[in-house]
Amino acid sequence: MAANLLDFDLEGLAAFCDSLGEKRFRAVQLYRWIHQKGATDFAQMSDLAKSLRAKLADTAELRALPLISEHVSADGTVKWLFDVGQGNAVETVFIPEDDRGTLCVSSQAGCAVGCRFCSTGHQGFSRNLSTGEIVGQLWFAEHRLRQRLGLGQAGGKPERAIDNVVMMGMGEPLQNYAALVPALRTMLDDHGYGLSRRRVTVSTSGMVTMIDRLRQDCPVALAVSLHAPNDALRDALVPLNRKDGLQALLDACVRYLDAAPRDFVTFEYCMLDGVNDTPELAHELVRLVLHRVPCKFNLIPFNPFPASGLKRSPRERVTAFAKVLQDAGIVTTIRKTRGDDIDAACGQLAGEVQDRTGARARLARRREMIPIAVAGAAP
Ligand code: SAH
Ligand code: SF4
Repeated sequence: MAANLLDFDLEGLAAFCDSLGEKRFRAVQLYRWIHQKGATDFAQMSDLAKSLRAKLADTAELRALPLISEHVSADGTVKWLFDVGQGNAVETVFIPEDDRGTLCVSSQAGCAVGCRFCSTGHQGFSRNLSTGEIVGQLWFAEHRLRQRLGLGQAGGKPERAIDNVVMMGMGEPLQNYAALVPALRTMLDDHGYGLSRRRVTVSTSGMVTMIDRLRQDCPVALAVSLHAPNDALRDALVPLNRKDGLQALLDACVRYLDAAPRDFVTFEYCMLDGVNDTPELAHELVRLVLHRVPCKFNLIPFNPFPASGLKRSPRERVTAFAKVLQDAGIVTTIRKTRGDDIDAACGQLAGEVQDRTGARARLARRREMIPIAVAGAAP
């Protein structure tokens, strides 16, 4: 099959061009055509020699993800659903803000981690996305939005629609590491999307050894989905925690900060009614992280979905929880829910993923076995 050029970071494309007998600067030109200009047709690439364009037409293609649907929310949030084959789909969400545009990108069809409160996790794991399928979400969204928003040139450079990427869509990015890293490199490359390391965030449910590898290979901003201040509760909410535990996770966060582009880790904490939202747990959280991990907290009001059997914490409980953290001097924000009307909020990205692994049945059994209500309110 023809090579998909979206699969390559710049080094990979240089190696591919080398195999065609072409110099590195040709790879740079080609890479810029693809990522900076959104070109799809080699015939458009006017500064490439005709002979190279012919070679490319024979050996390569730009295989974008087939679009299934596009939904635009009243608040400007856009959600795209892409077909990844065999009845599976993944979602990508654009969130416009006053001073920037953020793209929430998926890394897998489904997810094997199986967090209790996550609709992707409830579907089970289907497959890893390729580098081209990860980068392809940014490629598509950036050029689609530029067209839609009528963005032009600013100081000789194209105006960007997206200046912030968060790997917070479907899937656990660090369980798809080999495809993730070249995708991140294209996001960062000056000849690619030129995003700053501080504005590319990998969000993980906490795979300790992979956090260490990311630190060495491609340190970008790190968000860790914490959700609980102790192992007993975290084991029940994020099954992966049973492997390494919280102490090892926090140590990995501290090590990560040596190389990170920011001087803090963002902890995400999904607020579940009666499960992890009491003031006692907030104090326990402060004791866990204070003077140990430079961090900020982002409290995410739980976005319910029918199969979860869980409820969103009431607003007052979320603000009271935030206040305990803030009073301890920890910067804490409460995430605004965006794109509610198009099911584009965190954890609602469901796609139409087939359950190949029986995870849904396992989760249903696990729900019966693990008591997760800690504040008297049964889910
Ligand atoms: N697998 C990675 C990234 C994808 S999930 C991770 O777990 O970090 C992105 C964020 O959405 C995580 O912080 C996750 O905890 C949160 N999330 C998942 N389901 C949610 C839900 N139903 N409501 C609110 N946040 C949710
Ligand atoms: Fe996977 Fe993240 Fe959802 Fe957990 S929260 S199941 S790690 S996508």
